[in-house]
Formats: sequence, structure tokens, C-alpha cells
Amino acid sequence: MKINKVAVIGAGTMGAGIAGQIANAGVEVWLLDLPGDDNPNALAERGLERLRDPDQPGLISSDAGAYIHPGNTRDDFDQLADCDWVAEAVVERLDVKKTLYQRIDKVCHDQAIITSNTSTIPIRLLVEDMPATFRQRFAITHFFNPVRFMRLLELVRGDDTDPAVLELLAEFCEQQLGKGVVSCPDTPGFLANRVGVFAIQCALHAAFDLGLKPQEADALFGRPMGIPKTGVFGLYDLIGIDLMSDVVQSLVDILPANDGFHAEAAPIPLMTRMIENGQTGNKQGKGFYRDSDQGFREVLDLNDESYGPAPRILLPLAEKAEQAGIKHLLDDESLYGQFAWRVLSRTLSYAASLIPEVGDSPVAIDDAMKLGYNWIKGPFEMIDEIGVDYLIERLVADRRPVPAFLSEAAGSSFYRVEKGQLQSRLIGGHWQIIQRPEGIIRFSEKRLTLKPRNRCAVASWYDLDGIALVEFHSKANTLDADSIAMLDDAIDQVESDNMRGLILHNDAQHFSCGVNLQVVREFYRGEDMDGLDKFLAHFQQVVHRMANVKFPVVAAPVGLSIGGGFEVILHAKQVIAHANSVTGLVESRVGLVPGGGGCKETLYRWIETLDCRDNITPACWKAFMNLGYAKTATSPVIAKQQSMLRPDDRYIINRDRLLAEAISAIKNPSSQVAFERPDLVMPGRQVFEEMCVWLEESKDKGLFMPHDVTVGTEMARIVTGGDVDPGTVQSEQDFYDAERRSFLSLVATEATRARIDSMLDEGSPIRN
Ligand code: NAD
Repeated sequence: MKINKVAVIGAGTMGAGIAGQIANAGVEVWLLDLPGDDNPNALAERGLERLRDPDQPGLISSDAGAYIHPGNTRDDFDQLADCDWVAEAVVERLDVKKTLYQRIDKVCHDQAIITSNTSTIPIRLLVEDMPATFRQRFAITHFFNPVRFMRLLELVRGDDTDPAVLELLAEFCEQQLGKGVVSCPDTPGFLANRVGVFAIQCALHAAFDLGLKPQEADALFGRPMGIPKTGVFGLYDLIGIDLMSDVVQSLVDILPANDGFHAEAAPIPLMTRMIENGQTGNKQGKGFYRDSDQGFREVLDLNDESYGPAPRILLPLAEKAEQAGIKHLLDDESLYGQFAWRVLSRTLSYAASLIPEVGDSPVAIDDAMKLGYNWIKGPFEMIDEIGVDYLIERLVADRRPVPAFLSEAAGSSFYRVEKGQLQSRLIGGHWQIIQRPEGIIRFSEKRLTLKPRNRCAVASWYDLDGIALVEFHSKANTLDADSIAMLDDAIDQVESDNMRGLILHNDAQHFSCGVNLQVVREFYRGEDMDGLDKFLAHFQQVVHRMANVKFPVVAAPVGLSIGGGFEVILHAKQVIAHANSVTGLVESRVGLVPGGGGCKETLYRWIETLDCRDNITPACWKAFMNLGYAKTATSPVIAKQQSMLRPDDRYIINRDRLLAEAISAIKNPSSQVAFERPDLVMPGRQVFEEMCVWLEESKDKGLFMPHDVTVGTEMARIVTGGDVDPGTVQSEQDFYDAERRSFLSLVATEATRARIDSMLDEGSPIRN
């Protein structure tokens, strides 16, 4: 059977998100909720509306919305008759779900698969009243919020679930919905929430017990541990303090009395009061953090329960640990080190204690935490990083229990590479090769089996069966002279060794957040404008060379590719992007112009899209708008509409399949052809002046700040040719030179420096 039509019942947070991702896959989906009084489809329509939220779009393009049919469970239930999959995502109430299943069973065809998105109710209870024919076709598909962006899908089997049903669901969810499917037994909280909620609770209690401020705890239980920067208090605010306390309570209710979770689950009186006062987090505008009326971030004082300023806290220990690794935190004897040890030692040993209850291998737990909670490493990978023996010794010293699976690993590790293959430990000291489905290659795993051909602190390149793979790996994968030199070296070697091609990729949160502004700041603070010009020129030369080499060049970006990171992508011959990748040239926000060929590419691409070689003025305006507004595209589909990507560029919904696709694209003709950048006849002075007038008028209307006009003027100068006669002919190199001149002239202004300072020191640029 093939899944051609789906129904999602319940159009709340999860149901709408699931329907959105099904629509992103181009599959028809009915989204049903309870009938409304005035408008029967109001709830489903509201769910669809939420998917169009520009801040976190659940759809990869507005066109995808056409696959969703909003409806209601009174008038449209017969639509289920020809659905191949019915995904139930109604409120977490057993009685409501059970009543619904009775109705579904009467309408659906006898092959239809039915799943629940429940977080806490065991399958056994969900289907206890249902006939065997229904139970065989029933499973839990536990998606994470927001569905488009969270990679994990926990697929839970019941005692009676037909293996063919699980196989079909796994294939559909992995290949068409792009999920990392982790099979789970029907144990409480499955895998991700079982470990994730434990870790959050542990961090929360540790912070209260040790008297840490929320910002201190978040600075530690965040990036330095490879955990998203929302930390613990930020995450509580994000999820909702009331919702989290319900989740904790439901785990308390369903976990056996001897489970370690209970020791971390005691309610905290302050939080009970917060819920009573409506301080439930972001949705109410106040929780542990809030924005003041003046727009400043404030934080709750955990002692006197008042809000006060929340300046960005930079903890040297946390900063150092981000580079030096988790052990640096654990070895620290300060209160911060004690916090880190308490949280991590308990979380890691709790994860180890779950084996064999939830399965026999660490891979599923590690995958669940990486894909469902966005941790950079799973618990067992973290144990390997700090050392199994180190963890055991310190647990023993603390008189804490050492789980059996952990003590079995004494003197060894949970992962190893044998004969070029990555293996994971099983119970009883056995090992197994980690095998991913055909077409899935995670570079973070593949890398463990390879030796870099060249490596520096910020970038490396590897030989992947005759293809050079360049990986940036600085903080946020920002670029500096060394990253560009690494790319240059890889290009040299592909040429000299006659390798098959070049791939730009990393299995990280982001491909690259652009040129490291710290580098730019060091140049101007050191009055070294020549050095800055050389840096830019080198960047331009290398990306230009890459666009013109004889061999194939494929970029396979994930996450953010912005600023200089996107300029690198713009010079790859073909782009195979992840469906959630975000692209754009955002330099104007920090008072700069793209100086690595980005302005030039934006213009040439608009000329191609508009097919206006004879009169490029319309393309100049389009490029001017893209650059001036620092437009970003939240999907490759939108990037194509913005001429950021070219018609031959493609996207892949499952990011684990990106690398394999990029490897096979090396053979495609479009990855081999250098794109032509012929001389252009520039509109010059007149259009340049029209743009300047438009900038001034927009400023007078209050739309732009004064420095926006200065920056916009430089963009106008680059894309029109500036103060030159109409008809002046400009080469590709002229554009590169113009970009550098404008970049340097802007860097010389105090206003640009103020934007860069606030970006680097406060985390966002000022508006000036
Ligand atoms: P929600 O409250 O946002 O939405 C539930 C929706 O179900 C509402 O729109 C409600 O009107 C509708 N509904 C209630 N009874 C119905 C019925 N009989 N027929 C049709 N619609 C009905 O809830 P949610 O957060 O989307 O959670 C849905 C399910 O997903 C729950 O089982 C929850 O445990 C699970 N879940 C939630 C999350 C999360 O982060 N929110 C994550 C994973 C799983």
C-alpha cells in the first residue's frame, strides 16, 4: 500500500504541524477539528493560519497550503473513507481518543493505518476496546513541536501492531516527511521525553538548590553542554511552565516508584505560585523571563520574585567549555562546576540506567536526544567524551549508583570504529555496526571513520571516496581567512589529485552564519584596512575560482547559510539544500554590504530570472531590494522565488539524505557547468539616483534609519554601477572591486562600527 491521502484529527499545535509537514511533502491531507458554532471549520482554519506564521512558518511555501483541506469532525468525517493514514492528535484525554477510534473504525477502509500522537498514554490502554483488526493497524507516531523543524519521530509499536504497518509508516515518515524515525517500545515517555524531561528537571532543581540565577543556569545548561541556548529556564518559558508541570506530573503518574525520575520531580513552590499568577512563560509574555515595556529583557529574581534587568551573562567557564569540551565544566570546582556535574552526572547515568528497559543499544537514546531535543551529542556520546572511567569514578566517590550498562563499559566506550565502521556497544559487552537505511549518511558519523586530509581550528576537508568534502566547524561555523584557505586547499587538491569533485556540507545546526565579525572588528580596530581588503579579495578569489573550476562543486547546506556563508553557497555550481535551510545576505543589518560576490550574484541571478540582459534595470531594483532589506528565504522554495537559488538547485526534505544526494549529484551535468557571468551594460547614474531618492523618501516616512540610507546607497552603487554614464560596461571583476570598495567605506563609519559592536557584544545590532 502507498499513503496517498491522510487525515489528521485535532488541529491544535501538533495536528496542524503534522498536517503542514504532510502538505510540505506534497500529499493531500484533511485537517479536522471539532465543529465551531459560526464557522464549522474555524478551528482547523485557525490551525492552518498558524502554519503561515512568518516567524516560524510550518509550510515551506504558501503553495504547500493548498494540499491541506480544513474541515470538521461533524461534516467531513466521511473523508476518512479513502484515507490511507489517519493521524489522531486531539487533546491528551483517553476517553476522547477512545470515542474517536470507535468512529474512525466505522468509516476507514480495512487497510488504513491509524496512529495517535499521544505523549503519555500507553497503546495498550488506547486500543483496549478495539477489535484486533484495528489494533493491528494502530501505532503511536510521536512527533515533536514544531513538527516541520524537529527531526525526531518516535514510532511506537503495540503488542498487536503488524510489522508491515510499522515499516510503511517508518518509510513514509522518513522519506516523505523527512523525519529521523526512532523505533521505541511502549514505555513511559518513550525515549526523548524520558531523558529530556529528566535532564530539564535535574537542571531546574540544581539551579534552585545551588542558588544560581536563571541566566547563570541557562549559560551552563546550554551551549557548553551542546544543548540549545534556551537552557533550562528559557526552555520552561518556551514550552509553558503550566504545560511542563503537567508533563512532569504525567511522568510521575506513569513511572514505577523505583524510577530515578521521582527524585527530580518534586514541585517547586515558586513555580506553583507562578502558574497561579499567570506567569506561565512566553505565551503569557512573562515567566522566568519577560520583556519590559521598554523592550528590555528582564529576569525573575528567584528569591524575592520581582523582575529586574537581565543583562547578557558571559561566564568565562562556559565560554571556555564551549571550545574545550564538557570535561572542562565538570572539573571546575566553583558553584558552576558543581551545577554542571550534578546535572550531567545524573542525566547521563539515568540514560544508562534505561538500558535494557527501553532497548539494548545506546544509539536510539542518542538519536532521540539529538533529533528531538537538538542536543549536539546524545548522553552516551557525552559519556564517551568525558570518559566512561571518569564518570564511574566520580559517581562512586559521590556514593551514587553506577548503572550496570555503564559499569560494563569500564575501561572502554559506547562507540568505537573497527575496520572503518562505526559500532555501538550492546548489553553483555557485544558490539554492533551502526547501520542506517539506504541513502542516509550523517556526516557527523561518517567523519569518525575518516582522517581529515587537512584540518585547522575552523575548517577541515576529507576525502570521501574521491570527493573532497569541506566542512566548516567554528562557532556558528563563521568564516575567517583560515576557513577560506581550507577551501582553497581542497580545490587545489581536487585539481592536482584529479578527484571527482567538491562538496560543501556539514552535519551541524547551521552551515555558516557568515564571516566572523570579530575578524572584521580586529582589522578596523587595528587600523588595518589594507589587511581587510586583502581578506575580502582572497575570499572573492577563492569563491570565484570554485565557481569556475573544471570539476563538479555541490553545496549541501542545512540550517542557516547567511552572509558570507551564503556567498560561498552562491558560488557552488549546484545546491542541494535541506528543505528547512534558511538563506540570505543579511549584511545590511550590521551596516555592511556583501563583500564576497554576494551583491554580484544577486544581480546576475535576477537578470537570469527576469531574462533582461538587454536592459538590466528591473534586475537592479530587485537585487537592491533583496540586499537592502536583508531578505532571507525560510526554505529553498522561497529562495528560488527570490532568485537566491537557481532553477537547477534542488531541496531534500530529510536532512540525513542530503549528503548521499550531494554525492550522487556530483555526477549530474548541472554540478559541473561553471555558470557564465558575462560583462553587463549598466544603467548607471540615473537609476542610482532614483534609488537614492527612494531611500531618502523612505527615511522621511520613518521606514529607515539614517544609516540604512548610507548602507542602501552603497548597495545601489554596486548594483547600478553608481555614478557612471548609462551604458557603461562592467565585468564580473568590476563587481567584486565595487563590493570591496563599498565594504571598506562602510567599515570606516562610526555607525557601522556601532552596529558591529552591538551585534558582537549584545547579540543583536542596534538601529541607528
Ligand atoms: P492542543 O490542545 O493544541 O490541540 C488539541 C486539539 O484537539 C484542539 O484543537 C481541540 O479542539 C481538538 N479536539 C479535542 N477533542 C477533539 C475531538 N473529539 N475531535 C477532534 N478534535 C478534537 O494539543 P496538542 O498540543 O496539539 O496535543 C495533541 C496531542 O499531541 C496530545 O495527545 C499531546 O499529548 C500530543 N503531543 C503534544 C506535544 C506538544 O508539544 N504540544 C508534543 C508531542 C505530542
